[in-house]
Amino acid sequence: NLSKRLKETASFVPPGIRFADIGSDHAYLPSYICLSDLTAQAIAGEVNEGPFQRARETVSFYNLSDRIDVRLGNGLKVFSPGEVDAVVIAGMGGSLIRAILEHGSDRMAGTKRIIAQPNTDERDVRKWFSTHGYVIMDEVLLEENGHIYEIIVGDKHTGRQQLTGKQLLFGPRLLQQKSDLFYQKWEQERKKRHRIIEQMKHAKVPEAAKIASFEKELLWIKEEVE
Ligand code: SAM
Repeated sequence: NLSKRLKETASFVPPGIRFADIGSDHAYLPSYICLSDLTAQAIAGEVNEGPFQRARETVSFYNLSDRIDVRLGNGLKVFSPGEVDAVVIAGMGGSLIRAILEHGSDRMAGTKRIIAQPNTDERDVRKWFSTHGYVIMDEVLLEENGHIYEIIVGDKHTGRQQLTGKQLLFGPRLLQQKSDLFYQKWEQERKKRHRIIEQMKHAKVPEAAKIASFEKELLWIKEEVE
């Protein structure tokens, strides 16, 4: 039974396409999609041997070896340009997702959609999208097991999406919608930043620039959430 987080992430993969799930671990997401969409084809990428083996086990358990290709390799290097229409990268920090996209940008020809589910540092993902021609089409906040998760969906466009500092931090769509979860999330984030600032102020050599940038974010949070 797939987690709500991965089900929701899977819902943004258009039907009938070829996609890659990078950092697939058990390959639960591509298996779920290919079991319900008989025309879908996937590449499950894994950089680590253990998760790679787990992915192979799941795929053979569900008899999906003809439609899910499990490949061992770093990030987007597991596919060649034009091989996939969409890429899913879920369950990692936003800075790692950004690094994976950055190191694999030579593979992105033909990739019309990126579905990212960062666990932290969502802003890094939005920054990469906005500087590489991916426009944020959808954003979702969801709660599972006491965690609030974000999903960010970017589609390739010829124009660029200019995002303000606030839109990068909160998410342009999430900021528009301001759901209950949005308020919950940013209340948590507000407390986190307060704690960090207090710790930083008591450091032997307080880093003024970092403190100032957290204080600016606190002000933004105050403006948007309180
Ligand atoms: N995507 C699944 C999910 O959302 O439940 C699994 C998330 S798991 C926490 C992260 C996975 O990413 C690990 O299995 C790890 O081996 C893999 N990973 C980390 N860095 C990677 C990279 N550069 N390329 C491919 N896989 C990577």
